[in-house]
Amino acid sequence: MRRLLVAGNWKMNASVAMTEHLLSAIRDAEIDTCDVAVFPPFPYLALAHSTIADAPIRLGAQTCSLEQSGAFTGEVAVSMLSEFQVALVLVGHSERRSLYGETDKIVLLKTLRVLEQGMTAVVCIGETLEERQAGNEREVVETQLRLLLDELSDQQWQSVVLAYEPVWAIGTGETATPEQAQAMHRYIRSLLQQRSADIANTTQILYGGSVKAANAAELFSQPDIDGGLVGGASLDANEFLGICRAK
Ligand code: PGA
Repeated sequence: MRRLLVAGNWKMNASVAMTEHLLSAIRDAEIDTCDVAVFPPFPYLALAHSTIADAPIRLGAQTCSLEQSGAFTGEVAVSMLSEFQVALVLVGHSERRSLYGETDKIVLLKTLRVLEQGMTAVVCIGETLEERQAGNEREVVETQLRLLLDELSDQQWQSVVLAYEPVWAIGTGETATPEQAQAMHRYIRSLLQQRSADIANTTQILYGGSVKAANAAELFSQPDIDGGLVGGASLDANEFLGICRAK
């Protein structure tokens, strides 16, 4: 009943030529095995929107401002994103958390901004290698989720997608095993279950961290994995389409 979603997080990688090439290839592939979303950097959103045209590819942004408008040099408001048909916004990616000080409180506030605008928040959570080696991965993930569990209404949860991305697997080529990923996804779903059975059953939980065409099928066949948040492999059309067709 939960649909599979494959989302490409381009991070700070793009050019006009790459955006046109990659998105034309994805558009022309007419993927119907899963929902597809792409997250280009801000300056390419308008071009991405026009290249995707009417294809059923959802457009996402990699972050957004906490503020709505005004003297916030360099920031981009969610209302601006929605003018370019952006439907999803990544919140709390581990790079935003570790490099730009995005705390759990900021993640909550940004999520609320995204939801107020009628968009979907893709909230990223995940432990570092040290935290896993210390056996604290569940505690870390629960702490990252706690404010969302406590503060969002049932209605708001309908517009949240979670992405479990163990930091040690991001961009390292080292993927969590399907069993490790499934175990954490199951645990995350048990936390959602404390809110309600409906939220637990309907919330999509994506896995992220070195997903590629070669490992996607096994990951996506796990019962609690509802798709992937793909970084490096989303920059190559064949690789990304291979992931979209994996299941
Ligand atoms: P990766 O990145 O697929 O390159 O590991 C995933 C992500 O950071 O979302």
